[in-house]
Amino acid sequence: MAETNKGLIIVNTGPGKGKTTAALGTAFRAIGQGLRVLMVQFIKGSWHYGELDTAKMLGEDRIQLLPMGRGFVKIGAEQPDPEDVRLVQQAWEFARGKILSGEYELVILDEINYAISYKMLDPAPVAEALKQKPENVHVILTGRNAHPSIVECADLVTEMREVKHPYQKGILAQRGIDY
Ligand code: ATP
Ligand code: MG
Repeated sequence: MAETNKGLIIVNTGPGKGKTTAALGTAFRAIGQGLRVLMVQFIKGSWHYGELDTAKMLGEDRIQLLPMGRGFVKIGAEQPDPEDVRLVQQAWEFARGKILSGEYELVILDEINYAISYKMLDPAPVAEALKQKPENVHVILTGRNAHPSIVECADLVTEMREVKHPYQKGILAQRGIDY
């Protein structure tokens, strides 16, 4: 039980709020411990997220936050837009290289579960890379509908459950809380 420096595969999934913010909270903790952090955002939201500026304040030697997708991907469309697929693939190739290089002790793949569930990315090479990752590297995968093969190779899986969300009362996204 006293194993130290075991790089974990962590999944934050489920329909409730807090998947990305929990990953950022872990980053905050990890930076304090001197771990180098990389966060690759597979699906870029439409807001200017506060964490982009926080990362710049902390400096690239501590945390790098890279939005690599386009704005909101159209959901409900039968086929994903080929341009979105290309950007997701490119983001994955980049992230895969960084995970395997061991350059960062914490790599966050933000919204990768969403990209997989919308068939923009094949889960098999992701699971394969996770199995080959260097021992000391922690990886967090966020997004709804985590694929069973990703859940299978994870060490820690948390499903956020919605109990209440302000959106139900018509309260829109709040600066500093949602973006
Ligand atoms: P956050 O980034 O706030 O931690 P998340 O990563 O859990 O949220 P996403 O699926 O990435 O959730 O959605 C991001 C945006 O959608 C956020 O602005 C968030 O407040 C909002 N959101 C998340 N969950 C819900 C929900 N259950 N109902 C309505 N809006 C939600
Ligand atoms: Mg999110």
